[in-house]
Amino acid sequence: MDTILQPVPQLLAGKKGLILGVANEWSLAWGIAQAAHAAGAKLTLTYPNEALQRRVLPMAAQLEADVMECDVQDDGHLAGLGTHFAKAGNQLDFVVHAVAFANKEELKGGITNTTREGFRTALEVSCYSFIGLTKALAGALNPGASLLTLTYEGSTKVVPNYNIMGVAKAALESATRYLAAELGPQGVRVNAISAGPINTLAARGIGGFGGMLKHHEATAPLRRLTTQEDVAGAALYLLSGLGSGTTGEVLMVDTGAHIIGPTPANVS
Ligand code: NAP
Repeated sequence: MDTILQPVPQLLAGKKGLILGVANEWSLAWGIAQAAHAAGAKLTLTYPNEALQRRVLPMAAQLEADVMECDVQDDGHLAGLGTHFAKAGNQLDFVVHAVAFANKEELKGGITNTTREGFRTALEVSCYSFIGLTKALAGALNPGASLLTLTYEGSTKVVPNYNIMGVAKAALESATRYLAAELGPQGVRVNAISAGPINTLAARGIGGFGGMLKHHEATAPLRRLTTQEDVAGAALYLLSGLGSGTTGEVLMVDTGAHIIGPTPANVS
């Protein structure tokens, strides 16, 4: 993370942030957490269950971060976050929502593999959770607070096997705009980063993900994969005063892949 750490050590000095979605050291949320900590923020990380608690606790200790339980499908957990951060002195300056889930068997083949229950789960965990979290934290945000979620280009273009997650990300991006419009008058900003494919636990559940990585590396304008550092750098911009005029935005952080259109096989 050296490239992010050096230029902006005090960008988030004195700011308090809540980050959901650290599963392991490959998580996009972990890259953002490290960069935010290095920029001076005091963090709280969440874990969704006991198995992940054991993994997140030592990682949180590295950043002197607090930890709280939050399965986003549990309204009691969301309300618990709201109550905790509404207390005087606990209010938040930024929130990172890096949570998504769809059944693995629905992330291969065609979208007609999607079951009613699979649709409900994917949309609930990957989209509703951002709305529910924002609602729960509404009374716990400092003026100028910044909310951030993570999305992927499969929301607007058809990506093989991404299926129901593409539908969920389209809903999440739309929710980002509605939340930005609703919270904007209070000075709260809401944005999304659309990251290129990165080899994480969640991403490995997508059928043919290895092929997606190879294609991205070979065809993206920068001819390389997107990194945790790329995403963390963009997150620092959106979470800090540097991004003070930006809200309702889906910021592409994908080494430029989204600008490339269909290329006929006989044109180099
Ligand atoms: P990751 O490390 O696997 O993180 C996903 C996180 O979501 C995990 O911590 C996971 O916990 C959590 N989660 C799932 N269900 C949950 C629930 N009910 N309550 C609370 N947390 C829950 O993968 P990642 O790639 O960093 O994903 C973070 C975000 O980036 C996701 O929104 C993803 O769609 C987005 N994104 C990723 C890529 C990529 O290529 N990696 C590209 C663009 C966007 P469990 O491990 O317990 O399920």
